[in-house]
Amino acid sequence: MTTEIYLDGNATTAVLPAAIAAAADAMGQRYGNPSSSHGTGLKAKVLLDQTRACAVRLLGVGDGRLMFNSGATEGIQTAVLSALVALRERRERGEAIGSLLVYGATEHKAVPESLAHWNRLLGLNLTLQKLPVDQDGAHDLALLRQWAPQAALVCTMAANNETGIITDLAAIEVLLAETGSAAYWLVDCVQALGKLDLDLASTRIDYAPFSGHKLYAPKGIGMLYVRAGAPFTPLIMGGGQEGGQRSGTENMAGIAALGAVLSALERGDTFRSHHQLASFRARLADSLRAALPGVVFNHPFDKSLPTTLNFSVPGLSSRELMDVFDAAQVRVSSGSACSAAKAAPSYVLDAMQAPLWRSAGAIRMSFGPLADEATIEGACRRIERCGAALRASCLIPSERTAVPHDGLLQLGVEGACSWMVLDAASRSCIVIDPLPDMTARIESYVRCQNYQVQAIVSTSPGIDRSMLISALGRHVDSHAATDAYGWPASGDAIELGNQTLLSVADGAARHYLLGNAVDAALPPQAVRFAFSARPAVEALRALTCAQTLLCPTRDEHNQFCVGMAAPAASAMQAALQLDRAAFEAFLQAHPDTELIDVREPYEFAATTTPGTAGRGARSVPLSRLAEHASGWLQGDQTPLVFFCRSGNRSLKAAQLLQRLGHAQAYSLSGGLALAPLAHAA
Ligand code: PLP
Repeated sequence: MTTEIYLDGNATTAVLPAAIAAAADAMGQRYGNPSSSHGTGLKAKVLLDQTRACAVRLLGVGDGRLMFNSGATEGIQTAVLSALVALRERRERGEAIGSLLVYGATEHKAVPESLAHWNRLLGLNLTLQKLPVDQDGAHDLALLRQWAPQAALVCTMAANNETGIITDLAAIEVLLAETGSAAYWLVDCVQALGKLDLDLASTRIDYAPFSGHKLYAPKGIGMLYVRAGAPFTPLIMGGGQEGGQRSGTENMAGIAALGAVLSALERGDTFRSHHQLASFRARLADSLRAALPGVVFNHPFDKSLPTTLNFSVPGLSSRELMDVFDAAQVRVSSGSACSAAKAAPSYVLDAMQAPLWRSAGAIRMSFGPLADEATIEGACRRIERCGAALRASCLIPSERTAVPHDGLLQLGVEGACSWMVLDAASRSCIVIDPLPDMTARIESYVRCQNYQVQAIVSTSPGIDRSMLISALGRHVDSHAATDAYGWPASGDAIELGNQTLLSVADGAARHYLLGNAVDAALPPQAVRFAFSARPAVEALRALTCAQTLLCPTRDEHNQFCVGMAAPAASAMQAALQLDRAAFEAFLQAHPDTELIDVREPYEFAATTTPGTAGRGARSVPLSRLAEHASGWLQGDQTPLVFFCRSGNRSLKAAQLLQRLGHAQAYSLSGGLALAPLAHAA
């Protein structure tokens, strides 16, 4: 089976084998409580002290404090609480304090959220002030210089988790000194550990949180540095562990594991050098450039960690890129929070004034300093595979003409959708209700498959089609005379191969009927599809038949299409989802079952381990579901089991078929992610 290539190191890393061994030892042999005074406890105490001593040397803690905690989110809380409690006490003593809590616009959410939380809880009512960054992600130092005299606390990260952009901490330090600012200074060092040299006590940084799981230690262990003399208030009180700074029996397995990582860092024999890491990044970037034409990197490499790449590809959403990489078993993350239909833009890239397509389409590829040659080489091969899969599916410009598609294609954004009726034999197509957001997609589809667009029609009058017409160039007759709906002035029907499209006027709206004409007419029983902006249309009843599928051009609930006849209540099965065991049993009982992979063709093509229990699976992406549903509903209704990556999309497909009255349509729950099927298709 093909192994996964994990390139999401900024989210978390695997645990270093030596760290796993150290944690096992701390749980097995040295399981004592470091606060116990007997021999078993003392052994644990030695481990705790050794780990702290190593961290102190490595980070240049000097006379400062270095406490273990659960991770950076806790470290940030403790730091913010400490600074704000001190500010409140000073104010209560009648001392002047700054009024601003300044934080970089690209900080991890833990920082502004903690600032707002503790500011409110402590009743300080200071002003949260977001410090802008420029297009390269660098802080606006001129503005910080202006604000510095009124700043009570300044929060800046050492390196950004989405882009790897490194903050010029030295410049901020100079600026704070020159302006005589009395602000406390918190520097989130999570992404810097193991990638940037740190000598904390030689700086004026007051607080520096760290997190173990970003550098090969387990989740749930972290550290907080507090400068000697900086105010400190414990977040957690209790048994007085960590010198009373952070109570609760220590997470010794985590501390032992972190200790193994820190000593590897100190020895310098385990992790790659900056130069090696930069060469890995360069190779990945070259592969991305070759595979994904027009790829744009969202950060300057010379000002970023060598382990992070953040990029966007024109015409591709982060959802599509995530899906194709995931199919190729390359684990990356989207730089933004995706919803099923459209990605929410990344606040980091928004702050850098990146255009929306880049901010909403960003992908982060990140690796740790343990990355090896074979992983990078393997990743480059799979990036090529993803590029080829996207080209073959016409999602990115392709030199060669792809195998032409036939039938119906649904293209959707946020509940609205466009439809394309494609005829491979004549290489011609019709576009119904073109959405402006789909212009690039329709264009690349038409060009790559070398279609001629016969008509661009809409269900309401006066839709502006000029942008699409000019994008399509020679692939459409831009001079053809049409009415306000785009319908050709000449003729009552549009012929597309052996199919016929008819227009039905209904007040100000238009509906369209598609089917195989009989004697130059389209009787109700020949109408396969009806297109309408509305999900139920009385005006179409007499013109269609029970088998006609109504394809709405609004699809908020991902219904794809609806039947003209309401399904019998008995058609809805109680159990739609098959878990792995039920799936195997179902296949035994129904050997004629058809397995349907509903992922998009580029995912199917990029897949390294499709595996369908020794059976061939058919690729029917959701965008082609309406076309195929119409076929499946005719005839003997072979049992259908849909599957996809996670089980979400296949569930929608099974629901559709059940709604339409198919007797046996199911979804493999958990999808390929949970139940990789045994053999390659
Ligand atoms: N700060 C940065 C820059 C991070 O990347 C993260 C993790 O995503 C955190 C803080 C939070 O760290 P933890 O998971 O240890 O709470």
